[in-house]
Formats: sequence, structure tokens, C-alpha cells
Amino acid sequence: MAILKVAKLGNPILRKRSSRVTLEEVLAPEFQEFLDDMVDTMRALDGVGLAAPQVFQSKNVIVIESEENQRYVGSSNLSLIVMLNPKIISASEETIEGWEGCLSLENLRGRVSRSSKIEVKGFNRFMEPMSLAAEGFLAVVFQHEIDHLNGTLFVDRMKDLQTLCHLEEYDQYWAKRPVGAGSL
Ligand code: ZN
Repeated sequence: MAILKVAKLGNPILRKRSSRVTLEEVLAPEFQEFLDDMVDTMRALDGVGLAAPQVFQSKNVIVIESEENQRYVGSSNLSLIVMLNPKIISASEETIEGWEGCLSLENLRGRVSRSSKIEVKGFNRFMEPMSLAAEGFLAVVFQHEIDHLNGTLFVDRMKDLQTLCHLEEYDQYWAKRPVGAGSL
């Protein structure tokens, strides 16, 4: 088990488009170990998702996991998902707006609007094809993580930077306000 170093806002790797992984690459023991390290890192830092560029690997790899979130009953018991070369194949016009944070933008929160339902295609950790439909919180997490693979951060998705805030101020001024669909 290893906790990987996380790239922070300003590091150019977060702005690069990452590359697809190949079967040969995926089957290497070091790569499988890297996937486990990504999961360990996400858990250790209390994240609900992590993309490989955030740990200095410019590869199309994301991991997602979260405890059940009561605000999104039925759609957000996120058991562990490891996905390689993920691609959003459909996204609803209907959107939800919520607060997002990011391990690479430590202590910041901002409101972002995302598609409320998506379909994702990709591969599991052994390069077997997988696809899934997600809605609500899980859909938001997928869009956030897949954005990382294209060098996009949640702040780029904010329509109004006035809601960009530090965590302490978020707790103090924003957390208790009713904010539409809910927050991350
Ligand atoms: Zn992030």
C-alpha cells in the first residue's frame, strides 16, 4: 500500500490531456499495483474519486468510491469503481447543480452544474469492457473525474465564480443554505 502524492492546482500535469492505456500496460503487475495505490490514496485522503493525472500519471484511469449518500437515495451507494479509458457516451440535458471540491484544489468549494444522468463506457482493471448508467451524485463524480483526463477542473465548469470559496467559509456561510439539488 502506498499513498501517492497529489498534484495541486498550478501543476501543468492537471492541464494535460491524458492518454489511453493499452492491454499490455494494464496486465503489468506494476500497473495493477498503481491501481491499488490510487484506491488507497483516494481512501486515505477521504476523496470520492481520483483520476490518474492527479497522482502524476497522465493516463485515462479513474477510481470512484463513496459511502451511501442519503440525499440521492437509490443512486449513490457507490461501491468501488475502477475504470480505464472511460468515455461518456450520453449525458442528459437535464442538469443538477451542486457543490464540488477536488483533492487537487485543496480546501476549495464551488457550485457546478452537471448533467443529472449519464452513460459511461470503459474497461475494468483487467481491460474487460464495462458500461454503466449513473444519475445524481454518481453521475456528477464521473463527470468530474473524466474531466480530469481532459485537463479540465471543476473551476472551469463554474458559471459563476462568486460561489468559489474556501472550506471554512463554505461551512460558515454556504453549507446550511438550501441549494437546489444538493451538494457533494
Ligand atoms: Zn478532482
